[in-house]
Amino acid sequence: MILQELIEMSNRLAESGNFVILGEGNTSANLDADRFYVKVSGTQLLGATEESFVLVDRGKMLEMLDRESVSDDEVAKGLLDAVCDGSGRKPSVETMFHAYLLSLPDVNFVAHTHPTAVNTILCSTRAEELVRGRLFPDEIVCCGPEPVFIHYEDPGHLLARKIAAGCESYMEKWGSAPRSILMQNHGLVVLGKTAAQVEAASQMWHKTAQILIGATLLGGANYLSEENARRIGSRRDEKEREKVIFGDK
Ligand SMILES: [Zn+2]
Repeated sequence: MILQELIEMSNRLAESGNFVILGEGNTSANLDADRFYVKVSGTQLLGATEESFVLVDRGKMLEMLDRESVSDDEVAKGLLDAVCDGSGRKPSVETMFHAYLLSLPDVNFVAHTHPTAVNTILCSTRAEELVRGRLFPDEIVCCGPEPVFIHYEDPGHLLARKIAAGCESYMEKWGSAPRSILMQNHGLVVLGKTAAQVEAASQMWHKTAQILIGATLLGGANYLSEENARRIGSRRDEKEREKVIFGDK
């Protein structure tokens, strides 16, 4: 069931053409408190099947994440050691950040993609400044009150540690797990309780990025005030709308 939802979410994101091409991106989902499915290294999200995912021990990945420095060889060995379905298939090199994000409260699904519109912003010299504010209510409902922004880092162990540090600061400020992470010169990560939530937030980031690019070309983005943005995040009717959009399992 969980694996089927993960397969369907991955295919829909890939089929839209806005998020990934070739072997880009990776997705994951919790099977239970100790194990999660994650994309096999080098496989494509487009046309993903059961064979495209491997079952991984979360504790082993988190142990590796805790270490301050790990060599490339140790990462490669650690990834294979953490596989717990006996398949011997190699999980994506990004599996460490999936393990961390799937350990956060109310997070069961994660999608990491390289969306063209989002990366247009993240590959620009103004990336950090442009994504600082919120633009419209549905963006906040789907993508959260603010994204975690991560400066460029080498994918793998170092990037996973930077993501963990960024999420810890976010949780101190907001009291809950982030919905989205923007990685400079790299891409988008969306996390959520359900596959529908993750898919919706990914789509909404695609739309937000297009609007932000357009508004910037038209003289500059008119960001919502922090007060208005916070209010939308806490409004009861918006919370109800969120439930209707995403379902609440
Ligand atoms: Zn990536």
